[in-house]
Amino acid sequence: MRLRLNLSPKQMSKMHRAEATGPGAGILLAVILASGLFGLAAPVGGGAEEKSGAAPARELVERRLASMGTFLDVAVVAANRETGLAASERVVAEARRVEDLLTTWRDSPLSRLNAAAPGEEVAVGPELAALLAEMLRWSARTDEAFDPTVAPLMRAWDLRGAGRVPDRSELAAAVAATGPGRFRVSPELGTAARLHPAAGIDEGAWGKGYALDRIAERLAEAGVGDALIDLGGQTLALGRDPSGASGASGKAWRIGIAHPRERQRPVATLSVSNLSASTSANSERGRTAGGHPIGHELDPHTGEPAFDFGSATVLAPSALVADVLSTAFFVLGPEKGLALSESLRREGVAQEVLFLIDRGARSHAQDSRRLEALASPGFAQHVVSADPEIASVLTPAVTSPPQPDPPRH
Ligand code: ADP
Ligand code: MG
Repeated sequence: MRLRLNLSPKQMSKMHRAEATGPGAGILLAVILASGLFGLAAPVGGGAEEKSGAAPARELVERRLASMGTFLDVAVVAANRETGLAASERVVAEARRVEDLLTTWRDSPLSRLNAAAPGEEVAVGPELAALLAEMLRWSARTDEAFDPTVAPLMRAWDLRGAGRVPDRSELAAAVAATGPGRFRVSPELGTAARLHPAAGIDEGAWGKGYALDRIAERLAEAGVGDALIDLGGQTLALGRDPSGASGASGKAWRIGIAHPRERQRPVATLSVSNLSASTSANSERGRTAGGHPIGHELDPHTGEPAFDFGSATVLAPSALVADVLSTAFFVLGPEKGLALSESLRREGVAQEVLFLIDRGARSHAQDSRRLEALASPGFAQHVVSADPEIASVLTPAVTSPPQPDPPRH
């Protein structure tokens, strides 16, 4: 998923760029301000219209900084520069706060839990305890396709390092240390315990989604209704894109969906508002060992990398749900994934899913690959455009003409 601002070159030229320094060291920060860019700065037709009120001038504040081991791109739309900057500051602070809570790359409440003696109750605090309980529940709801306790498997395959293939006994030991039953969480006490000496929680499949939901709360508090936040490829699109191709009133944000094997190549454009989009695929983070790719999406049942069919993209009002389910659906694969998506929808979990399935090389002569799409019924309503190859699945409300009866002999 790529952040797209849909700014025409003319609009870009009106902007000026200012470098600012964040409070933390080593933070890359660029602020782009667009004075009066989106408003009807000069109402046409005189006083009466002026009183009736043209849309107020609005500013777009954009920032990029390192967060959660990836980039956080923030674009907030506000009444003026000060409120835009203040809102973006809240976003940055919240991303830091969540990272400090959930990181397992340095000391944090979650790291302390992962290092505790088996059975020891660790005071992780009410927020993290409630979140962990929720993540363990998601493990049960996805038949453990999503499982936050995959840390031993991540270690066995060295997926935070160069990647390696564990031998059978190592893999069996890692599988034995994995599973929601390896943790006990007490949200009411704000404590958690790991129950196996090698058990560990991995935040990779849900930490960014959680951060985006908390960021959405901070933006609402700051009075920001229109924003596009991208955290390591997961997008949160709030309200509208005021630069919108539709004109001054703006329209839903547009985001691109990449080809599962060529991350730079968009194959569909989606229109999203008050939704988060999360894609799980192997292309960016996969490791290799002995010349073979090792995917970073693990099947907790086998302990092995899940079959790499392509990618799963989830749209959901909750960024946490989108993050959790894109991982679960990738691990389950298109058919089982679609079935789970439908049963969750019946239970009231709002989300839609798109599976992009790589069918391999087309022919020796052509190096392009055959792509197929499978989507939940409501996904198509978000599709603005798509590659011809997958467009038929993704075009909403195309009523096919009645099929004639097959000829009888
Ligand atoms: P990304 O991190 O690229 O956005 P995902 O959201 O799908 O992709 O998360 C993948 C990460 O989640 C892995 O790198 C690993 O840290 C962790 N993980 C891998 N397999 C699982 C799984 N089955 N359940 C939960 N977490 C997983
Ligand atoms: Mg995920």
